[in-house]
Amino acid sequence: MTLNDHNKSLSGSDWTRPKRFDRNLVVIGAGSAGLVSAYIAAAAKAKVTLVEANKMGGDCLNFGCVPSKALIKSAKVAHQMRHADHYGLESVEPKVPFSAIMERIHRVIAEIEPHDSVERYTGLGVEVLQGYAKLIDPWTVEIALNTGGTQRLTTRSIIIATGAQAFVPPIPGLAETGYLTSDTMWERLRDRRAVPQRLVVLGGGPIGCELAQSFARLGSEVTQIEMAPRLMMREDQDAATLVEASMKADGVKVLTSHKALACGADASEKWIEVERDGAKFRIGFDEIIVAVGRAPRLRGFGLEDLGIKVDRVVETNEYLQTLHSNILAAGDVAGPYQFTHVAGHQAWFAAINALFGDLKRFKADYSVIPWATFTDPEVARVGLSEAEAKEKMIPHEVTRFGIDDLDRAIADGSAHGFVKVLTVPGKDKILGATIVGDHAGDLLAEFVFAMKHGHGLGKILSTIHIYPTLAEANKLVAGQWRRNHINGFLLSLLERFQTWRRG
Ligand SMILES: Cc1cc2nc3c(=O)[nH]c(=O)nc-3n(C[C@H](O)[C@H](O)[C@H](O)COP(=O)(O)OP(=O)(O)OC[C@H]3O[C@@H](n4cnc5c(N)ncnc54)[C@H](O)[C@@H]3O)c2cc1C
Repeated sequence: MTLNDHNKSLSGSDWTRPKRFDRNLVVIGAGSAGLVSAYIAAAAKAKVTLVEANKMGGDCLNFGCVPSKALIKSAKVAHQMRHADHYGLESVEPKVPFSAIMERIHRVIAEIEPHDSVERYTGLGVEVLQGYAKLIDPWTVEIALNTGGTQRLTTRSIIIATGAQAFVPPIPGLAETGYLTSDTMWERLRDRRAVPQRLVVLGGGPIGCELAQSFARLGSEVTQIEMAPRLMMREDQDAATLVEASMKADGVKVLTSHKALACGADASEKWIEVERDGAKFRIGFDEIIVAVGRAPRLRGFGLEDLGIKVDRVVETNEYLQTLHSNILAAGDVAGPYQFTHVAGHQAWFAAINALFGDLKRFKADYSVIPWATFTDPEVARVGLSEAEAKEKMIPHEVTRFGIDDLDRAIADGSAHGFVKVLTVPGKDKILGATIVGDHAGDLLAEFVFAMKHGHGLGKILSTIHIYPTLAEANKLVAGQWRRNHINGFLLSLLERFQTWRRG
């Protein structure tokens, strides 16, 4: 059944559309998607209410990007102290008062908090209500206020921006043994004086890798368990290999192709049982972080009762509208990506379509979506990977530049990684780029811009890049592409011309 058919079948329902509305828009959830949606609506002079049940700023500020990047920074400093001899200094084993690191993480959150605060958004013209929102009908939202009591609002449009939460797999004994997730660890580990001595990280995706490497650098004995044959399955093998090697060098025991079977505790320790090729064994731990993915928050606030499909994500069309065209979704809850910048990007489409969709609608544009994993080395990607291009049989050429050859990287002692660009055969049109190395997430911006605006490698090559910078790698890969496409006939003509000029 298409959304339209489904819509028709629901049209006989007994919900009555109000003649007048209290609001133009109610946004549910004040994470990246909800904040941006509300901001855009207020800028368009709409009467908008933003409802948040928990913390303003959502996952990114409180449990995700911000605390994890603050942790990564502390871990990197510890790593540099340990390896100071690489820079001509005396190495020292860092003392790690973990509670001070956690305190810093919470200070960082507090410093960024005002950007997402009730005060800021109120000042921007958004009404912010702190409470749990529930859809009563396609135009009515009921909010159970955190201060007590409820408030009902009618609204022309609604944006669902309820995000995602850590997915916890049904491993026997896990709940009883106790576990941490990225949602709980920042509070639960807050007052710990020392890092967990033996830490298991379940999951080899971006969050698992970032956390496993950080804790290893801070002194935990980390075992990382991943069912797939390698870490970071979404990235190309060459990228994942460099990350895995770096993590192993940091002391992470990486167990790929290992399935978690059960958890438990006996008199001496907590353990997890894993299996590889039929062989089972146990790993003892003090703490386990479950990082196997994030599940959208879909149920319990009325979507199902309105007939909206909530199997995996909130089902929407290309305009981010659900089967009720005035109810839209953005961010992690809508998929297909789970990134802060994508949530913000979708929010523009959701807000504009929510407010003006009956006049003009815009399709959410996923043509150029970048992301990064902030391991050391970082892995950043936009567009096609090599593996995807092969799998989808998309004709492509690959050009690589090794960062081990880059002057600035050599001077910095970070001469590892690569820039890999996929182009249309015979043309400089960029299909995708992967960068592995220091600041890869920042370096990628040039390719994101080029792809977004249809610029090819030739334009990057003709752009002056400051010497010596890491960004020169982008120009150098473009130069490599040019050398691969030298016109041999033209060169031989040139050679003959120069010979003739010498007389
Ligand atoms: C450890 C970790 C690291 C990450 N690192 C990065 C990174 O480096 N870069 C990046 O781009 N992304 C990163 N992410 C992902 C990023 O945090 C999410 O993609 C982003 O927060 C999604 O924003 P959102 O608005 O969709 O949802 P959220 O931020 O989850 O916000 C949803 C909000 O809705 C509220 N809510 C839910 N239901 C209701 C209801 N019924 N009523 C009222 N309020 C409700 C919730 O309380 C929540 O605050 C990371 C995530 C994690 C966990």
